[in-house]
Amino acid sequence: MFAIGIDIGGTSIKGAIVNDTGKVLTRFAMDVNKNASGEDEVNRFCDVMIKSINDYDNSIKLEGIGIGMPGILDMDKGVVITSPNLPKWNGLHISKLISKRMGLPVYINNDANVATLGEARFGSGKEYSNLIMLTLGTGVGGGIIIDNKLYDGNKHMGAELGHMVIRVNGEKCGCGRRGCFEAYASATALIRDTKKEMDKCPDSLMHDVSKELGKINAKVVFEASRRGDKAAIRVMKRYVNYLSEGILNYCNIFRPEVVVLSGGVANEGDYLLDQVRHYLKNHKYGMKGSPKVELKVASLGYDSGKIGAACLVFE
Ligand SMILES: [Zn+2]
Repeated sequence: MFAIGIDIGGTSIKGAIVNDTGKVLTRFAMDVNKNASGEDEVNRFCDVMIKSINDYDNSIKLEGIGIGMPGILDMDKGVVITSPNLPKWNGLHISKLISKRMGLPVYINNDANVATLGEARFGSGKEYSNLIMLTLGTGVGGGIIIDNKLYDGNKHMGAELGHMVIRVNGEKCGCGRRGCFEAYASATALIRDTKKEMDKCPDSLMHDVSKELGKINAKVVFEASRRGDKAAIRVMKRYVNYLSEGILNYCNIFRPEVVVLSGGVANEGDYLLDQVRHYLKNHKYGMKGSPKVELKVASLGYDSGKIGAACLVFE
């Protein structure tokens, strides 16, 4: 079986033909013109898609098209309600539009759920039936798989794992509340804390590292703490504590077999994961005597969204 998986972001739309073993056969992409209407942009992407299918193999039999995109969606009707990075797409009947142009059934879900599905079926989560995925980026996205099925709550509006409050009246979150996990465990939060610590510690190596990197990003604290900088180690420790406490909450609620981390911060790999594993072990994985929860880095990289979107079709 073959399907198309589409990953819509704020600056580009990426697509791929994927087979039902999770293999990407061909990729295509288009930059989004934010000043154009959603309808025009989707039509333009359909042109890209049609050309790519013909270039790859015009006799291929496609089962359908899956889409992952950020924002609030009516997934049953295939309508974009609001998408913060693509305001001109609000109200767009995206599934109907693509289905009509391509003559194929179209399925849509939010980007975090779709990436989770990809990792669960064909990535780091493929050996497990119960998993939590957390994407540590600008925000914290997440997805839940229970007994091999994506769980996203009533009207698909649940699984907002980034907006669990871990500190009442804490840091302000993008959602309007305070103290959310996202406000402590996202790359944005790590950078905020890094800058604060740098202001306090003019002698910290973090100043040199940020000059080497040309900016203050999440890598600054990892690199400086690897080199033994005390201020960076303090930032790291706080970050690990918050990230781990959040994960412990998910362990207690869902008792997954594995937690898969993705996003730029997760790419630090075992340097970060070992510290989180140590914390989880010291806190008995949530409850005394409860089973160990594996911690892994997502393995599909930038393809997880496209592969996961294709899974919407296969399932
Ligand atoms: Zn929030």
